[in-house]
Amino acid sequence: MESTLRRTWAEVNLDAIAHNYKTIRNKIGDGTKFLGVVKADAYGHGSIQVSKLLQELGADYLAVSSADEALELRVNNITMPILILGHTPKEQVPRLIEHNITQTITCKAKADEYNEEALKCGGVLKVHIKVDTGMSRLGYLCDDKNFETGVNGISEACTMPGLDAEGIFTHFAVSDEPGDENLEYTRHQFHLLKRVIEAVEANVGHRFKIHHCANTGAVARFPETYMDMVRPGLLLYGYGEFARQMNLIPAMTLKSTVSTIKIYSEGTAISYGGIYVTDKKTRIGVLPYGYADGFFRSLSNKCSVMTEAGPASLRGKICMDMCMIDITDMPEVGVGSEVEIFGERNSVDELAEIAGTIPYELTCAVSKRVPRYYYREGELIEKELMLRL
Ligand SMILES: *Cc1c(COP(=O)(O)O)cnc(C)c1O
Repeated sequence: MESTLRRTWAEVNLDAIAHNYKTIRNKIGDGTKFLGVVKADAYGHGSIQVSKLLQELGADYLAVSSADEALELRVNNITMPILILGHTPKEQVPRLIEHNITQTITCKAKADEYNEEALKCGGVLKVHIKVDTGMSRLGYLCDDKNFETGVNGISEACTMPGLDAEGIFTHFAVSDEPGDENLEYTRHQFHLLKRVIEAVEANVGHRFKIHHCANTGAVARFPETYMDMVRPGLLLYGYGEFARQMNLIPAMTLKSTVSTIKIYSEGTAISYGGIYVTDKKTRIGVLPYGYADGFFRSLSNKCSVMTEAGPASLRGKICMDMCMIDITDMPEVGVGSEVEIFGERNSVDELAEIAGTIPYELTCAVSKRVPRYYYREGELIEKELMLRL
């Protein structure tokens, strides 16, 4: 069933994502593969539509965080290679093999148990091996003290009959951070990855088909790290300083409507806690957009949204389902007027900055109550409601 509400919705501009994809493609050159990161429902944009587009555009690989995210794509006719970056319980190995999904191997214990499960079901699991070069999260630890152990563990995984080690990769911790020490850190991580690959490939006489490491920061700033494939997420969706430098287009515009307007006299406290008190006769609009839709309560009283008459300031605490804006000097804004919470006229990067976070968190937070409207060549091509109607 279709949503009946013209309440709050997210417009996802697939042309923007296509533009961003092509721009990144041009930058990395023909010889480099492109993996699009579509985990967390494509950073809130909707992984099915984004993956369909990337498949059509000729991207080489997709990455998600879990087996469920990968299966969601397979069920929806995404046939291209998919890499799971995160944890998968070993019981899922037969399903991964059946659906031709690639799993990340993060340590010796995982290699052992995935190998065993694959042998048990008579299949071979395609894997990419993750090297921890300094992110200190997932991957075989391969720093100075652990180099030998790490390389031996990876070499062993490469020779396991239940595993097909197609790729090897690492993840950068500070490739998007300014400062010489971060530049050095990224170079060190990259250098270590190359040393590990060299040692493993010499050990086992096996060349991995795909070496990769470049996330958004590295795609933008470290061309020497492209190797066989790049792995951007944020850049593809058009947010952050590097997207601005590359003239990429933000893909999501989050819109709401003014549902109620009231005029309060001076000295009226607005919303929970009364943190905002009017200092004059004030015209306030209520938007059906609150923290349950993905707004950040920490932005209460601190940001503005864009109306047809310009920016309108948030007033008072953001509630679960609503927030209030000041439209005192904006007679053209009435009940039913559209406002842009974020998008091309009110950048999500700026909102994130005010909230003390990163744009990733704001787009990922747009909740299932907010329907996604997909646009191509200016036309609405699909509406997706995440509720169980
Ligand atoms: C999320 C993720 C990416 C993409 O990161 P961006 O900063 O959005 O480019 C790449 N690689 C791994 C392993 C990730 O977890």
